[in-house]
Amino acid sequence: MALVALATAALNGFGFQPRTQFPTMLWCMPFLLCYLLAVGASTRMFADKVRAQKRALEHGSRIDAQTGLATRPQWLALVMAELRRFHRYGAVSSLLMVDIDRFKRINDGAGHLAGDQVIHQVCAILRENLRSADTAGRYGGDEFGVLLPGTGREAALEVAERLRRAVSSRVAVGSVPVTLSIGVAELAPGMEAIEDWTGAADEALYRAKGDGRDCVRA
Ligand code: GH3
Ligand code: MG
Repeated sequence: MALVALATAALNGFGFQPRTQFPTMLWCMPFLLCYLLAVGASTRMFADKVRAQKRALEHGSRIDAQTGLATRPQWLALVMAELRRFHRYGAVSSLLMVDIDRFKRINDGAGHLAGDQVIHQVCAILRENLRSADTAGRYGGDEFGVLLPGTGREAALEVAERLRRAVSSRVAVGSVPVTLSIGVAELAPGMEAIEDWTGAADEALYRAKGDGRDCVRA
């Protein structure tokens, strides 16, 4: 703009006219319009990009990218909602804590890629064996939580046993079957905090580990 102003002044001389004439105003109109449209379009593009990034971030905070299961915070939020429903309406519910046995050995013996594949297969079996109301979440590296709303202890034990059998018969590294240990805990009146419930399922899981793994304990 400075260069154009200088060039114009050099060609036409420097004339200072504080009044804007009507033709000048008319000439300015299309440029002003273009300017407004360009600002509008770029603002909109920017807003769309920010919105898409926000959606991706929200999705990432809810869904574990590697397994497609709920992330730990998302899963715990659902567990918390179920705990509140229980204290308000007495709705029965159970939790499973599922852990792959000797997973470190799989990683060390067959490599991390084989380990990742095992996690992938176990998660696929979790998903296909659960009802739409149930939610599986990735609790830690090789540990998964399963929330079974409306399911009592006996039915939860059956679900856990079905999962355990499906994995040991269908997932293997070489000729060695992959096994699961599973802890089951039904929601009970004394459980006020979320940790009381997840802790009970964790305790059952550690008992399953202590009893030789590849088993379900409640
Ligand atoms: P246990 O039977 O007592 O559960 O033994 P474990 O070896 O399964 O238990 P531990 O918790 O010691 O080992 C879990 C290992 O899983 C440790 C960590 O390096 C590995 N791990 C965690 N997340 C991933 C993952 O996404 N991919 C792979 N390949 N390994 C993972
Ligand atoms: Mg393990």
